[in-house]
Amino acid sequence: MDKDQAYAELIQRTKEHALLGSCASVLGWDERTYMPHEGSTHRSEQMGLLARLSHEMLTQPRIGELLAEVQDDPQVKLKDSNHAANVREIKRAYERAVKLPKELVEELARVTTRAQQAWQEARQANDFQAFLPWLEKIVHLKRQESQAIGFQATPYDALLDEYEPGATTDEISRVFAALRADLAPLIAEIAASGRKPKRDILEREYPVDRQEVFGKEAAAAIGFNFQAGRLDVTTHPFCSGVGPGDVRITTRYNPRHFNESIFGILHEAGHAIYEQALPAEHFGVPVGSACSLGIHESQSRMWENQVGRGRPFWEHFLPKAKQAFPSALQDVALDDWYFAVNDVQPSFVRVEADEATYNLHIILRFELEQALISGDLLPQDAPAAWNEKFQQSFQLTPPNDKLGCLQDIHWSMGGIGYFPTYTLGNLYAAQFMDQARQDLGDLDGDFRRGEFGRLKNWLNEKVHRPGQRWRAGELCQRVTGKPLSHQPLLRYLRGKYAPLYGI
Ligand code: ZN
Repeated sequence: MDKDQAYAELIQRTKEHALLGSCASVLGWDERTYMPHEGSTHRSEQMGLLARLSHEMLTQPRIGELLAEVQDDPQVKLKDSNHAANVREIKRAYERAVKLPKELVEELARVTTRAQQAWQEARQANDFQAFLPWLEKIVHLKRQESQAIGFQATPYDALLDEYEPGATTDEISRVFAALRADLAPLIAEIAASGRKPKRDILEREYPVDRQEVFGKEAAAAIGFNFQAGRLDVTTHPFCSGVGPGDVRITTRYNPRHFNESIFGILHEAGHAIYEQALPAEHFGVPVGSACSLGIHESQSRMWENQVGRGRPFWEHFLPKAKQAFPSALQDVALDDWYFAVNDVQPSFVRVEADEATYNLHIILRFELEQALISGDLLPQDAPAAWNEKFQQSFQLTPPNDKLGCLQDIHWSMGGIGYFPTYTLGNLYAAQFMDQARQDLGDLDGDFRRGEFGRLKNWLNEKVHRPGQRWRAGELCQRVTGKPLSHQPLLRYLRGKYAPLYGI
C-alpha cells in the first residue's frame, strides 16, 4: 500500500471516530439542558450504543496496520509537522485503547455508572460507609487499568496520562511541592492581616434576567462568538465543543449571589474561546484538537481569574453592572467590589475556594490519589487521611465527610488522575499571562477600555491553533521560553493580595 494512501485512510477513520463522538456530545448537551425527564432511559440506550461503536472504531486492527504502514513515511518523521503530530497522538490513543481488556472497560463503565448514584446518596446522607464498597471496587479496577497500560515510574503515571498526555507524577509533584511551600505562608499572612472585604455586596438582589444579559455581554466582549455558540442553563456548568461553528456553554443563576453566574460564564467562555479557535480544517484529528485538560483549564482560568477578577476588568464593567443592577450596586465603590470578588477565605469545599487556597485542595487530592493507587492508603482509611491532610494544609478539620472526602464526584466516575489538571491550569494560565504581558505591553490599559482582542488573538495564535502539535510541557516551553514553574502563579497571587490585605 502507498504510504500517502495509508495516511489518508488513517486520517479519514480518525475523523469519522471524532464525528461519532460529536454526535454523542450533542446528545449529552441535550440530556443536561432540555431533555424531558422521562427521556432518560432511551437516552442512555442511545449513549450506550454510541460508546460501543466508538470503542470499536478506535480499536479496529486496521488502525494498527495503518499506523505500522506510515511510521517511516518521511513526512511523519519530519519534526513538528502535522503528519508527525497526528500519527504520534493517534498511535497513543490506539495503544491505550487496545491495551485495555474489553472486560475491564465494560466493568469500569458498569461500576462507575452505579457508583455515581451511590456517591450521590452517600454524600446526601453523609455516609462514607455506604460509598466505601464502590470506592474499593473503583480503586481496584483503576489499579488494574494502570497495570494494563503500563508505566515507567509509578502506577499513577498511567492514569494521569489519560488527562495530561506525557506528564509524569514526579515532575508535577516537584512543581506542586514548591507551590505549596510558598503558598502556605502567603495564606497565613492574609489570615493574620485581619482585613476582610464587604462580602454582603455580592449577596444582594441580582435579578436573573439581568444577570443573563450582563453575562452574555461580558462573554461576547472577551471573544465568545455567539454565532458559533450558545449559552444555556444547567445545575453543573460545562462547555461542550460539538465541532466547528458549534461550541456550547452553560451556567446557573443565583438571584442572591452575583459571583456564581458571572465568573462561571467567564470560565466556560474561556474554554469555549479555545474550542472556537481550533482549526476547522483539522476537525477530529490531533492537530485540530485541544492539547490537554491542563491547557484547557489554563484558558478558562485565564479569563475567569487573571482577567475577570482583575481591577482593570471591573473599571470597565462595574459602571455597566451599576446600570444593570442599580439598587444592588449604586453605593458600591470599585475598591470594595474588587476586594469582595478577591476574598481569600480557607473553606472546606473545593468548588467554592478562592484562587489561592484552591490549589491546596488540589494538592491534597493529588497526594491521596497516589497513595490509593500505590496501595499505601486503603479506601477505608481515606476519610481519616483526608482530614489529617486537611488539618495540615488549612488548620481546620472537616466536621463531616460530606464536607470532606465525599464532596467531589470524580472518584465515583473513575476519574482518578483528573484533579491535578486544575492546578496545572492555574500554573499555565499565570505563565502564559506573564508572557502575553511581555509580548503585548499594556494589557491592563486594553481591559480598562473593555478591549480584549489583543490578548485573545495572542492566545489563538500561540496556544489554541497549534492543537496537539506539541504536548503541554513543550507548548509551555515554546510559548514562554521556560518549563512549567510555580513562580509566575505565586508572583501573580502575591502581587494581587499584598495591596488588598496590606501584607
Ligand atoms: Zn474548567
